[in-house]
Amino acid sequence: MSRFENFEKRWKIQGKIVCETNVAIGSGEPISTGDPAPVMKTHEGVPYIPGSTLKGVTRAAVERILNGLGIDVCKNKLHPSGKLCKSCEIFGAMSFGSKVIFRDSIAKKDSYEFGVRTGIAIDLDTGSTKRGAKYDIEFVEVGSEFPLEIIFENPKEDELSILFAALKSIPAIGGHSSRGLGKIKILIEKVDIYNPNDYFKTKVSPSEVMEKEKLAQYITKISTPYLKEK
Ligand SMILES: [Zn+2]
Repeated sequence: MSRFENFEKRWKIQGKIVCETNVAIGSGEPISTGDPAPVMKTHEGVPYIPGSTLKGVTRAAVERILNGLGIDVCKNKLHPSGKLCKSCEIFGAMSFGSKVIFRDSIAKKDSYEFGVRTGIAIDLDTGSTKRGAKYDIEFVEVGSEFPLEIIFENPKEDELSILFAALKSIPAIGGHSSRGLGKIKILIEKVDIYNPNDYFKTKVSPSEVMEKEKLAQYITKISTPYLKEK
């Protein structure tokens, strides 16, 4: 079932992902011992973070926050009754589409450098180091920047506030986070809001744009119900 049937409002949320440590986006594991675990790259060799990866880590962050607030999140994403939990409401469930689209995030030009470091393979059965089993981990260096773009169809205020909180709470992305890689910071910089009428214009433009102070005030306003003292 499509959740895009009634288009009332479309939010284009834009910002950036800043690498605060080296980040190994990609499988995080070497293809075989001795090969570098490759960073995901476009045909032109530019590193990128797949939208599906961003959606996955964001969904996990939303669910941790909902659990922390004592709001029920389902386990199996089935919802036969059709009444969705808050996470499935945003990200979709079995036979229910997602209200959010995460674009692939291709690194900003000249913002990134590649690096390689050597990892040591651990025997998963014994937990000990495999003798001689070293491999290379490719990463993008600290300071690399990736633009963020999320399309959110007909968002409700509580869904937006939880999404924004979740984006700020994502601890790491990519492989080897237990070894100090993958720390990121996500900044929300601008929101374009489209109504159906905007698409009848010869040149499509959003009917509302929020950024800087106005955006910060809006996010604070919608987040107020959650800003409770414990
Ligand atoms: Zn659910």
